[in-house]
Amino acid sequence: MPARLGEFDLIDRLRRRTAVARRDVIVGIGDDGALLRPRAGRDSVLAVDTLVAGVHFPLDTHPRDMGWKSLAVNLSDLAAMGAEPVAALLALTLPNADRAWLDAFAVGFGALARRHGVALVGGDTTRGPLSISVTVIGEVPRGRALLRSGARAGDLVCVSGPLGDAAAGLALVQGRIDGGIAITRRLRRSLDRPTPRVALGIALRGIASAAIDVSDGFLADLGHVLRASGVGATVEVARLPASPAMRRLLPDVRARAPLQLAGGDDYELCFTVAERRWPGLLRKAAAMGMRPTVIGRIEARVGLRCVDAGGGAITTARAGYDHFALSTPHPTRGVGRADPPNATRSRGSRA
Ligand code: ADP
Ligand code: MG
Repeated sequence: MPARLGEFDLIDRLRRRTAVARRDVIVGIGDDGALLRPRAGRDSVLAVDTLVAGVHFPLDTHPRDMGWKSLAVNLSDLAAMGAEPVAALLALTLPNADRAWLDAFAVGFGALARRHGVALVGGDTTRGPLSISVTVIGEVPRGRALLRSGARAGDLVCVSGPLGDAAAGLALVQGRIDGGIAITRRLRRSLDRPTPRVALGIALRGIASAAIDVSDGFLADLGHVLRASGVGATVEVARLPASPAMRRLLPDVRARAPLQLAGGDDYELCFTVAERRWPGLLRKAAAMGMRPTVIGRIEARVGLRCVDAGGGAITTARAGYDHFALSTPHPTRGVGRADPPNATRSRGSRA
């Protein structure tokens, strides 16, 4: 077996390692296009995200984790829409067709695909600098998708889980902060293998008024919800959930706030919900092992205000990562344009 693969061998290995059978996939890999048969009464949800080596993940990232993460960031978009994942397309650009790399990539991609019953139904394979683009297709009952635009004054602002772990993992990897081996390994894992909150997103249908996944940084992403909904919010920074590893690394709330507010790549859901629906939602979430946290409230006055526990205003330098605004310094990632080549970005702007 040669270490270098031909294109068709490569596609075949991907297909075998990611096989998921679904009744709504009539034709998967192998024809000019995939043929799906959506169930009646369903809306389709489509999303695409590209990961570029050295930009969206450190260059030393294991190919297994690249496979996982390239699908995870897309399933996270479906989760934020309240959609059930159905299928994925994979556009791979590789410097060479290395068998060990491809097999590891397929194992990571396949593990997450099987967990969510996602069929890899096609893609494209080209030679060039490493870049991984995944398109996902999901579905929701007609008219029931979660949007960014439904937040109303008085709603609670909530997050599904800890914020800042991925940004802390990146800062540790890049040597910008120091931590022990165990904490570094734990937080690096949050960066490399995010968990898309698919089940929670589905549970939020008909309950949450708006939702988004935290990919570019919490402030930036909540800002998208506020703009789309034409409202504002106040967020209490001390209420931002922090993982045990994060609390050990940075016990002081103010020290970890920049990572939690502006760091990307967490892939938790940020959502808004009417207060009277909160107790029921909390029970529903607990039944699936999730513990969402209330961190603030939607207000009619536009703008996003961060306060400390006493209600005093906290000013924040910059909201999140924008690929096309490289000249502005970034609070968690050092200087944009002067970033070392192994810097990584959150998924960034959708421009
Ligand atoms: P075409 O020339 O018609 O575009 P290709 O030769 O590019 O077809 O691909 C052959 C089949 O393999 C198609 O069904 C395509 O969707 C699938 N395919 C190609 N690359 C990938 C990939 N990276 N992952 C999954 N399926 C792929
Ligand atoms: Mg093609």
